[in-house]
Amino acid sequence: MSDELNHECGIAALYWLDEPQGPSGPAEKAVVDGDVAPLMPGMLLDLQNRGQLAAGMSSYNKSRVQRLATCKGVGTVTEAFRMSRPAKFAQMLSECAGDACIGHVRYATCGADDERFAQPFERYHGRLWKWFCFAFNGNLANYGSLRDRILARQDYHFALNADTEVIMHSLAYRLRGDRAARLSSVMASLAKDLDGAYNIAFLDGMGRMVIARDPLGFRPLSWAVQGRLFAAASESVALTNMGFDNVRSVEPGQMLVVENGKLKVERFAKPRSKALCFFEWVYFSNVASEIDGRSVYLARSRSGEILAEMEDCQMDDSCIVVPVPDTAKAAADAYAYRMHVPCVEGLIRNRYVGRTFIQPSQSRMRSVRGKYTPLASVLENKRVFLVEDSIVRSTTLKALVGRIRQQGKAREIHVRVACPPIVAPCFYGIDMSTLGELFAPPFLPNRYQGRPSADTLAQMAKSLGVESLRYLTVPDLADCLKMPGSDLCTGCVMGKYPTFWGDKMMRCARANSNSGRQGRTYEQNARPQGAAK
Ligand code: SF4
Repeated sequence: MSDELNHECGIAALYWLDEPQGPSGPAEKAVVDGDVAPLMPGMLLDLQNRGQLAAGMSSYNKSRVQRLATCKGVGTVTEAFRMSRPAKFAQMLSECAGDACIGHVRYATCGADDERFAQPFERYHGRLWKWFCFAFNGNLANYGSLRDRILARQDYHFALNADTEVIMHSLAYRLRGDRAARLSSVMASLAKDLDGAYNIAFLDGMGRMVIARDPLGFRPLSWAVQGRLFAAASESVALTNMGFDNVRSVEPGQMLVVENGKLKVERFAKPRSKALCFFEWVYFSNVASEIDGRSVYLARSRSGEILAEMEDCQMDDSCIVVPVPDTAKAAADAYAYRMHVPCVEGLIRNRYVGRTFIQPSQSRMRSVRGKYTPLASVLENKRVFLVEDSIVRSTTLKALVGRIRQQGKAREIHVRVACPPIVAPCFYGIDMSTLGELFAPPFLPNRYQGRPSADTLAQMAKSLGVESLRYLTVPDLADCLKMPGSDLCTGCVMGKYPTFWGDKMMRCARANSNSGRQGRTYEQNARPQGAAK
């Protein structure tokens, strides 16, 4: 995507169980002396697409005085774990050696970008079941309200302005008392309070682990067992690359619990309608991943076929299909194949520009422009069908279109988008939380039904500076993902949200947009500490 829409986070977990709970295989054989920590950086590298601001891991080791140990830092996995400095890296792995560990890669959809927000969070306590660390992927739509509620209790204080801290205090509150609470009860109670997307990896000082996926299943979460090795990760690719061959999805509302060295699968919330985030297939997830039984590659490829089925432009010998690298490639290939038009690399992506989103917005704009080079030798005098996975803000797509025309000397540019128009913000972990930043809303009628009209498309195309523009429709998403449309969250493409607080945040986003207020909607709605209630 040219827009640099930012990824959310990724979590991972490993446990060396007391007894084999599955057939043996290569993943299990990679573990030496029951120490799983050396496998964690590799898993996190496979999840790096989900966040590059910080990375870390926490491990449990019963024979260590510091039963839970956490290593984390800002930057990519390579930077955070000092992988380019072998001695430092080896030292970190040795400090985190253990038979259980959880890991995290972070992008900030809530909170600031510094080291204090790096996960896992560790909460030390002298009682083992109250000493825990956890990592979180998602975003709570009601985080401001939960924070206010916690602050209303006597003598509570927040050090960070982030939903991760809300979850930490909420967990700690439920672990109070003189007996170790049952973790399924803790999660069930927590789920009653949380509104939004939350995948959680939790590990306590007794060596108990929980891997939980929220009851609506917004974000993907996979798991597998091989011999004594249990593993879970936000994306299946992290498990298949380790050598697991029986990778399954954690069901929404399901939790995997390791207690006394044994793995159990439990529910903490009753099955209900799902709200899987379709954007995971469209853009976020690794193309090699499979989410809830549907391959990311095949979903993207199907979106290209649908774009070809709806094509109404006449093709001729001067036509070429050009993907915006890299996420639009599968859709562009399938579209070109159906249209009998060559799919060529007319845009070269500079892979070393990376992490443009952590820069201030003006320099971000410059960096993203420097990220693509249009090839005049490919584009000159061609009718270019530019396939993009989605359009969120359009700022960089407009710049890209200008360069394809001027530098690439293309004769015509037609944009084909493998996603419906983004008409509303996301409050569940994708960093597009305001109405004002979005491209499509000003063009759409009040009673928009998920299919832009020909007039609307023509106006949008004019604004982008292209000859034509086509999008997938909202019903096409179900076809791409091969699942009922009712299983998908369509908040950002329809403006109707699957949770109470999603709808409520949308009303706030509208009000903020009308009043010109800036900043993430869910963060604005958290009052400063000490403010009048
Ligand atoms: S609003 Fe859009 S981006 Fe956010 S969870 Fe729903 S489908 Fe995904």
